[in-house]
Amino acid sequence: MNVVRFAPSPTGFLHIGGARTALFNWLFARSTKGKFILRIEDTDLNRSEERFIEEILGSMKWLGLDWDELHHQSERFAIYKEHAQKLLESGKAYQDGTAIIYKIPENLQIRFFDVIHGEIAIDAEQLKDQVLIKSDGSPSYNFCCVVDDALMGVTNIIRGDDHIANTPKQIILYEALGLKPPKFAHIPMILGEDKSRMSKRHGATAISEYRRQGYLPEALVNYLALLGWSPGNDREIFTLQTLVKDFSLKRVNKTAAVFDITKLNWINGQYIKNLDNEKLIDLLVPGLTEKGFIADTFDRQWLSGLIGLYKTRFSTLEQFAQMTGFFFNDAVHYDEEAVKSFLSAEQSALYLEKLKSALEGLDSFTPGDIENAMRAVIEDLKVSAGELIHPVRVALTGGTVSPGIFEVIAFLGKDRTIARLDKVAKKIRSRSLMFDKLDKL
Ligand code: GLU
Repeated sequence: MNVVRFAPSPTGFLHIGGARTALFNWLFARSTKGKFILRIEDTDLNRSEERFIEEILGSMKWLGLDWDELHHQSERFAIYKEHAQKLLESGKAYQDGTAIIYKIPENLQIRFFDVIHGEIAIDAEQLKDQVLIKSDGSPSYNFCCVVDDALMGVTNIIRGDDHIANTPKQIILYEALGLKPPKFAHIPMILGEDKSRMSKRHGATAISEYRRQGYLPEALVNYLALLGWSPGNDREIFTLQTLVKDFSLKRVNKTAAVFDITKLNWINGQYIKNLDNEKLIDLLVPGLTEKGFIADTFDRQWLSGLIGLYKTRFSTLEQFAQMTGFFFNDAVHYDEEAVKSFLSAEQSALYLEKLKSALEGLDSFTPGDIENAMRAVIEDLKVSAGELIHPVRVALTGGTVSPGIFEVIAFLGKDRTIARLDKVAKKIRSRSLMFDKLDKL
């Protein structure tokens, strides 16, 4: 049976690179009916924090990556000590104060086969003697990693290729302990768009941050799978279940993957489009409530309609709230540039007033009725459609981008539309259309 592990150090949040390593291990285990171990490498007692452990476990669960075993290295210090002691007794290691150090044998060539990079050979002479137990009594990463991987029966190590330099050191320790090394697969790094190693500079790196911004776990997992792996055709949408069927280490690229937020947004948008409105309401409600957009009781049908209006436009849950604020709030946030471009001329007041009276006369308020009324106003004013629509859009929505204006007006409803047109027209007339007061329009 294949046994793999994901071994995060809880010195920070689970980030994009770690999550991708976890995913590849998980997929390898699930696609071969193997075992997936989660091992918390909390040996650095100063830098490891409980809140990071909780966050890592929470993010793993949220992504749908369940584990078969959970271990904490901080609970296994006695085991590492015991193994170091054995090496000391056999003369392979020596003591330096309270530290225990492994002596690198002379004339040793280390070779290993990496599933992704092929044969790797190094001269052990390049290596310094290896610390097994530090002087403070805590084990070194390379040592407890080897002891645990061996005792936990790990058959395949899949990790970032920033660990390639550690592998020869670990292989020497396997041999010293009389243990058989597992197979290795070092997966290429993730780079930012400027081709330097992905870091906070390139935007959010923590999985919890993507969760907060309203990415769906299914979409994030889908995107992470494509970061360094490809299915061999141009298919791009994968559920965890289909990934389990299709995933193979053989199709992992040798070269670094570039993190592409536009692609992640596109994939997230695809998942959003395919969710039914009821499910989307449940996902959107916490964020909308937090923003004060909705109260405990709200009109589900109305929200479902609004989602319908925006479904092809938003790619994250957070974006939905940003785009639709003016439907929830009569204190519209006005974009300064939009106001400058489309509401500063005196005649825009006239346009808004004309439209207002045309709409007041409507008994039925469907997009079709609204369109007819607007066309009549356009003709009457002898202006182009855009000359009327642009100021109207800014007056009603605060910005220059929205779904079709007739649908927006219909959904906003007659009373609110008329009230907004009236308010903005009056502001223009009284020349008090000051940007600092716009929020209070
Ligand atoms: N704790 C190490 C890390 O987070 C694990 C490396 C490994 O997978 O061996 O980088």
